[in-house]
Amino acid sequence: MTQKMFSTKPRLAIVIPCYNESEVLAVTITTLLNLLKQLHAICSQDSYVVFVDDGSHDDTWEQIQQASRAHSQVLGIRLVQNVGTQAAILAGLEYVTDRCDLALTTDADLQDDLNTVQQMVEQAKEGKEIVLGVRECRKIDSFFKRVTANLFYDVMVMLGIPLTKNHSDFRLMTSSVLKRLRQFHESNLFLRGFINRLSRNVGVVTYVRQQRIAGETKWSTKRLILFAWTGITSFSVVPLRFILCMGIVVFLGSISLALFSLVCKLMGQTIPGWASITVPLYTLGGLLMISLGIVGEYVGKIYEEVKRRPRYFIDSTTTSEESRD
Ligand code: UDP
Ligand code: MG
Repeated sequence: MTQKMFSTKPRLAIVIPCYNESEVLAVTITTLLNLLKQLHAICSQDSYVVFVDDGSHDDTWEQIQQASRAHSQVLGIRLVQNVGTQAAILAGLEYVTDRCDLALTTDADLQDDLNTVQQMVEQAKEGKEIVLGVRECRKIDSFFKRVTANLFYDVMVMLGIPLTKNHSDFRLMTSSVLKRLRQFHESNLFLRGFINRLSRNVGVVTYVRQQRIAGETKWSTKRLILFAWTGITSFSVVPLRFILCMGIVVFLGSISLALFSLVCKLMGQTIPGWASITVPLYTLGGLLMISLGIVGEYVGKIYEEVKRRPRYFIDSTTTSEESRD
């Protein structure tokens, strides 16, 4: 059921994770300040942008500090070290949870279409608690990325993970959703995996993703594969069950082989010994190693989760309230 959510104009917080974004930041800051101005008709005047510096090595933090001194709507959070996009977004979201009505997350490189933000806010005002930005197509991606991304989403859906295809981290959430998000404590973060579990009222806007305005992607193929693997193993035990099924199939196969050998022996035919010994030996050895590897992945995840380590540390903020916690 949808209902009007806000009696007054909602306060919007825009959260931007930044890692070595020196080349794009000036344009990004200007664009976001303009966006806030355009949104004044539907959002409150004290809406603001929070840049989360995820342990950058260039002058990203200096630029954020400078912008924050020049514009009251710009805030900055500096993390102690690089913790990855997901934890950086989370740091920003946890910071704004009690300081906004709506929070938008998007990247520093302006690849997401900010013209859709107004539509997102309108949907939130109509009662949507989460509004997802979904890419219409993957034209700008390389062939490899397009194929692997599609495969990844298909596997996730097959494993029963409630994921919206072609949605990454461009989304609007209400503060009540942020409070629910705060209750997830896992270290292996894959935000888009829990987003659809946080509300019944999820809206969608579609957009065409642009190329980066400058700078380079921080997501190498290796990092993307690790991220996809985190997504799968953090949300599904199907790979573990798959091991069991594989074990059953191999076991049944070996019984058939044994029966076959018995029949051959009874019929007086000799079986060449070498193949029947070495092939199963290698097959089983391989399967056992794969199985152990998958189990090991889950054990590793449990190991990381039980430590319940903090996912990030804030070094300082431009508002200086929470310096060095
Ligand atoms: N990012 C981050 N920490 C990292 C890597 C990236 O905060 O360790 C930020 C980055 O500055 C950008 C966003 O996450 O704002 C998305 O990164 P990028 O544009 O490189 O990813 P892509 O769009 O190529 O998938
Ligand atoms: Mg990008």
